[in-house]
Amino acid sequence: MAEREALIDRFVRYAKIDTQSSGTATCYPSTEKQKDLLRILVDDLKAAGLDDAAMDEWGYVMATLPSNIPTGHPADGKVPTVGLIAHVDTYHEVSGANVQPQIHRDYDGGDIVLPGDASQVIRVADEPELGACTGLTIITTDGTTLLGADDKAGVSVVVETLWQFREHPSRLHGPIRVGFTPDEEVGRGTEHFDVVKFGAAVAYTIDGSGLGSLEAETFCADTAFVTVTGADVHPGYAKNKMVNAVRVLSALLMALPQHRTPETTEGREGFLHPISMAGNTSEAKAQLLVRSFSEEGLHEFEDILRETAAFMEKRYPGAKVAVDIKESYRNMKYKLDEVPHVVAYADEAVGRAGLVPRRLPVRGGTDGSRLSFMGLPTPNIFNGSMNFHGKKEWVPLEWMVKSVETLGHLCDIWVERAL
Ligand SMILES: [Zn+2]
Repeated sequence: MAEREALIDRFVRYAKIDTQSSGTATCYPSTEKQKDLLRILVDDLKAAGLDDAAMDEWGYVMATLPSNIPTGHPADGKVPTVGLIAHVDTYHEVSGANVQPQIHRDYDGGDIVLPGDASQVIRVADEPELGACTGLTIITTDGTTLLGADDKAGVSVVVETLWQFREHPSRLHGPIRVGFTPDEEVGRGTEHFDVVKFGAAVAYTIDGSGLGSLEAETFCADTAFVTVTGADVHPGYAKNKMVNAVRVLSALLMALPQHRTPETTEGREGFLHPISMAGNTSEAKAQLLVRSFSEEGLHEFEDILRETAAFMEKRYPGAKVAVDIKESYRNMKYKLDEVPHVVAYADEAVGRAGLVPRRLPVRGGTDGSRLSFMGLPTPNIFNGSMNFHGKKEWVPLEWMVKSVETLGHLCDIWVERAL
């Protein structure tokens, strides 16, 4: 039997592999280098005893840890297949090349100056959670790249959990399916994910921030495309003839509710967010993100947008203003409410790990939001890391260990409840 690698060594090894995804590429996965880690994970899963580990044409790695419940045991055949999912790619806007993880053992409780760029300081004053970490082993970057603990902490936690089952064969578990995925950061993590082939009844992404977080609610999201058609005329002879599409579009965007924008909302408030505009006198286009925790909220925003468009057609006679809405994803809560035990078990598992579960609505989407609507209910469990997407990412080893403990308890609970 291969030897288990220490969790910290495994994490550092994965963190050093550049797996940045691309927001502009159209191929899949969006960058070939994500497969560098995915290929390694096939070997690491096999070493942990998951003999069927394989990568498919898209880069998804899937593997099975078969149930070890003995024939004739009261839970035999009754425990549903539970999926554990984590993504290998790192955020597309901060470099993930040449990552140099720094290990701060027996952390002294002070500000952490990152050695590769002294202007990058993780300050206790900015990070209340850091105050509780004195004495822990904290992993950061050197300040020149991100760390990629989002979500290599999750990947490492899953592999460590599998090893723990391998080393404690008397601990009973049902069938477990593992999925390691590319392109989560660019919103394409589930694009080719085959839910039927994955074959799990429920799943958990291990991709949440901090200690004890459990996310079962996300935004509902649409994208709105506004097209204004004007009438271009020589500007010297344009009186009462020109209809300037640029002016109409600008007026429309300024007429939208200014207290419902990303920069003026928090918690459960939604928003209408123009992210791009382009055009000329005869035609101008804008793209807006529409976000709310409910479909009704989404439709209210979309009605406001349509009404504003209609108003602009009246105010600027001759202008045509078209609004097209494209669905992006929906709040996973709609699907998770149909199977409340899936979240309840995770809640209990976090509690058994000695933590108070932190249930926060996600002001965004997760791969789990799409998977839940593809038929695989998938809430999100913490991986222990902090400051996703930046050079000041940090993760205490002990918090990753808590994530491992939580997954162990979760698998226990699925067995207990099948009895
Ligand atoms: Zn992530």
